[in-house]
Amino acid sequence: MELSIVVPIYNEEETIPHLHARVSDALTGSGIDYELILVDDGSSDGSFALLREIAQQDRRVKVIRFRRNFGQTAAMAAGFDAARGRVIVPMDGDLQNDPADIPMLLATIDEGFDVVSGWRKDRQDTFVNRRLPSIIANALISRMTGVHLHDYGCTLKAYRREVLDGVNLYGEMHRFVPALASQVGARVAEIPVRHHARLYGTSKYGISRTMRVVLDLMTVKFLLTYSTKPIQLFGKWGIYTILAGFLTGGLTLSMKLFEGMSMNRNPLLILTAFLLFGGVQFIALGLLGEVNARTYHESQGKPIYVVREKINLDEG
Ligand code: UDP
Ligand code: MG
Repeated sequence: MELSIVVPIYNEEETIPHLHARVSDALTGSGIDYELILVDDGSSDGSFALLREIAQQDRRVKVIRFRRNFGQTAAMAAGFDAARGRVIVPMDGDLQNDPADIPMLLATIDEGFDVVSGWRKDRQDTFVNRRLPSIIANALISRMTGVHLHDYGCTLKAYRREVLDGVNLYGEMHRFVPALASQVGARVAEIPVRHHARLYGTSKYGISRTMRVVLDLMTVKFLLTYSTKPIQLFGKWGIYTILAGFLTGGLTLSMKLFEGMSMNRNPLLILTAFLLFGGVQFIALGLLGEVNARTYHESQGKPIYVVREKINLDEG
């Protein structure tokens, strides 16, 4: 199969029929053999009933239903796991992304890229609580990951399927896949895509998401750079700190012994104590981090979602 489109769905009953129609319009007649994988992330409205109905009429539509709400990233991961296409295209379920852009993403993959990321050049969201935090987050992510994109948060992307095989997703991490992929040598491109205002339903996110994205960014940075060697990072600072402690300690001692200075309320004494204790703390943190990193790598098999039922898919 040529293409798998993966769409997370959380309470999107008004959009679902339009979504299905727009994807069909964009791809039927293009000669592209595709599947549309719709992942119901624990919706509490009529979304699942609609998905089942559509899947019964259209065999290209496949449905995965979660037991509860696991979040957008988990829903996308479930779709990636089930996808059979040569290229995988994730997309939002609210039609803010435009299915008509998919052939262009595919064409760019075929120019020789492994990841093609959409850039919402003309983004149709409010400024203060959506676009402004994104501008800051994008600048941070660009600096910290060294993969320079304009718009990490755009869900509409295209991946060669091999690129996703070794990538494990947590938290809000779907936006960091290009960075994780480029770490293992993927060629990443970014092209402008259309973006529309939400016509039906409401956004599932508030401002607290920005905070979660920033914290996830720190985790990704840590995993990219230090995950296999925390003791090297913290241990180095620990050793510097302890050496500085010895230096100020020696200085303090010589002031006392050779110059007869009073050590009463001497800041150097306090600094020495801080440096020595601080250094030990750093090393201990490094050791804990090291053990943690190894446990993390060992435990990659842990599922991040639980499936209740599947439609038009082999198992279950
Ligand atoms: N979504 C999901 N689980 C969640 C929250 C959102 O599957 O817990 C889906 C949602 O249905 C939509 C996509 O993720 O298809 C993006 O969500 P939304 O449009 O609310 O985000 P925004 O565009 O406002 O960033
Ligand atoms: Mg949206």
